[in-house]
Formats: sequence, C-alpha cells, structure tokens
Amino acid sequence: MTRSPATVTVLQNVRPWGGDAVDLHVDGGRITAITPHRGAAAAAAGAPTADGVVDGRGLLALPGLVNAHAHVDKSWWGKPWVSYGGEATTQGRIAHERAHRDDLGIPGVDVTLAVLRELVRHGTTAIRTHVDVDLGLGLRGLEVVREALDAVGGAVHAEVVAFPQDGVLRRPGVLELLDEAAAAGADHVGGLDPASIDRDPVGQLDGLFAIAERRGVGIDVHLHDGGPLGAFQIELMIDRTVRAGLQGRVNVAHGFAVGELPPARQADLVGAMGEAGITMTTVAPIGAAPLPLHALREAGVTVGLGTDGIRDLWSPYGTGDLLALTTQLARLSRFRHDDELVTAARIATSDAARLVGREVHDLAVGGPADVVLVDAENVPDAVVRAPGRALVVAGGRVVARDGDVLV
Ligand SMILES: [Zn+2]
Repeated sequence: MTRSPATVTVLQNVRPWGGDAVDLHVDGGRITAITPHRGAAAAAAGAPTADGVVDGRGLLALPGLVNAHAHVDKSWWGKPWVSYGGEATTQGRIAHERAHRDDLGIPGVDVTLAVLRELVRHGTTAIRTHVDVDLGLGLRGLEVVREALDAVGGAVHAEVVAFPQDGVLRRPGVLELLDEAAAAGADHVGGLDPASIDRDPVGQLDGLFAIAERRGVGIDVHLHDGGPLGAFQIELMIDRTVRAGLQGRVNVAHGFAVGELPPARQADLVGAMGEAGITMTTVAPIGAAPLPLHALREAGVTVGLGTDGIRDLWSPYGTGDLLALTTQLARLSRFRHDDELVTAARIATSDAARLVGREVHDLAVGGPADVVLVDAENVPDAVVRAPGRALVVAGGRVVARDGDVLV
C-alpha cells in the first residue's frame, strides 16, 4: 500500500550547499523563493505542519541525488540471496542473465519497485535508467518500469533508455525494436560495445543515429571497450553527433577508454567530446582507470554518476546509495581538497541535470523542489562520510525520513 506523502510549502532552516540558513519556499513542485531563515521554527522536526511547513533543523541541504546510470528493471533486491554464477566477461554476464532472469521475476513491477524505494531511501530523486529491450522480452520491460514509476507517485523523475543488452546488429530485429521503443516514448536508445559485441561499430552506431534522428530521441551507449578501440568508437560518435545536430543528446556510459589514453591523446579526445556536446556517465568502478574529471568538466563535458545495476545477475554489489558512491568516486579520483569534494557532489547532483532532461537540478529559484537533508558540517564532510538521509523531498513532497520510505 502506498501512503500519500506530505506536501511541503516551506522547508525552514536549511543550509543549501553548506551556506547560510535559509527557508526554501515551494509551490507546484518547484522552489519559488529562497529567504534568509529568521527566528524559531514553526514545525516539528522533519514532519510538516498542516500548512506544509517543515523544520530543517539547520541541516545541510543538497539537491536530490541524480542516479544517471541505473538498471531498475533487473535487480533481485528484496529476494533471498542469489549466488554469483556464470563467466565474468561481458558476454558471460549477458548469457547468465538470460538463463536466470525468468526465475527471479525479472523484469517485474515488484523488483523494480524495490529498487526505486531503495533509491528514494538514499535521497535519489531523479534517474536515467536503462531498461532491457531484446528479442525475448520485446518492450515488456519498458511497461514494467513505467508501472513501477507510477506506483511511487512521482517520487522519482526518470528518463528511460531502451537498452539492447544482448547486442544490436548481431540480433536481427533489435534495431526495429529500438525504433518501436523510441516511438513508444523511450527518451533514448541505447547501444552496447559496437565493436566487441556487434563487431560492427559503424553499423551499430549508424543504426542508432538513424533512429535518434527519425524519432527525436537521445543515444546512450555502454562502452566497455578500452584503449584505442574505445577511443575510436567515441570518435565515430563525435562525428555522427555533429553531423546529426545531436549535441547534448549523446552519452557515453563507462567510457573506460577515456581514462586509459596517453595524456596527449586523452586531451584531444576530451576536447573533441566537449565541442560535440557528448556527455559521460560513470559508475566509479574499482579497478578501472579513473576518468579525468577535472579535464572533462573544463572541456564542457557533462559527467553524471550512477549505480549501474544493484544486486543483480551481473554483480551482488550495490546498495542504491549514490552519496556513498560519491565517496567512492572522490576516493578513486584522489580528490582531497574541499573544492574537489564539492565537485564530486556536483557530479552526483546539479551537474547531471541534462542527463535527466532538466534545465536546472539545483537548490535555486525555479529548480525542482528535490532536496536531501543530511547532518553534516559542510559538503566535503557529507561527501567523505555519506551520513544518513534525514529528509528527502521530491517534487515538493516528503518521500523519505530517517530511512523510512513514505511512498
Ligand atoms: Zn549499465
């Protein structure tokens, strides 16, 4: 059963990005005014009064976390433990998933709801989720995810990528399925290692870009291929993005190659990505060469952070806590200075606005009323410690409080 979350009109006494205490005024799911906080709080801590006033107790406020690379359709969260099996390669994981997903009810509304609630519990209010589209499932996963998103009543704003996890050209009929998905409302069409999975990088990318141009959707390609092979495929994407006028609509997920290139080649590629408006999403993987985050941001490449799948047939890891993952991103990037730790928080929130189809995702007038409160001294403290989420507001409603999900 779903309870109706309380609507917020004023979130009093909070410190956006660690600044001075303010009151955030909310209407219609957006922040309409920000005023200095004065005087005593009018409400009980965290619980709205009848007129929607909430006491923020002077806590640190961040924008709702943005999980820019999720797979909410394919987890076994909430089910008994599933031991890891199959081969550790990309193809091995694909095969293992296809052999066992039916037993776990994947894709299913209940598993997707379980994942969405974990994300909300940890302060995520906006996601870009990949959803498997293949010859076995057709477009069923997209319907499942839509139903689960409806069930949490707008607590999670979502952009959906129709994701050909089992390959594109190597599975005749998948390109047509992606086209149908785009026509049916998917925001992006996905791709997967055009070289190593399809063994036809030009063919896969041409197919995806043709759909994007025809249907007015974006492109989001999982690119595990490293080194020069990965870089070559990013160059193919850059050329096609510029030619099709799709600047800002084409994303490279993982993009390990960018972190692996020698410095001069890396600088050239990052510069070209910035000029073409290519974006990137990382899942802060342990064991991969870190992305050059400073260089990417300086070149104008939007970078978002995501959990990837959590607790699924690919890996038993993942909790859905994007702030804890922000700690991991900062550590892997060897961030230590305050401004670097703030950059990590930006990547996990406001920087990723474009990746979830928003102009602004920040604690600013006109921005969405998506707010996470944590008991932290400042943003660096929050990033290194990932304290519990005291309050989560999404679209102007309280959706989680002290670890309890209210949707
Ligand atoms: Zn993924």
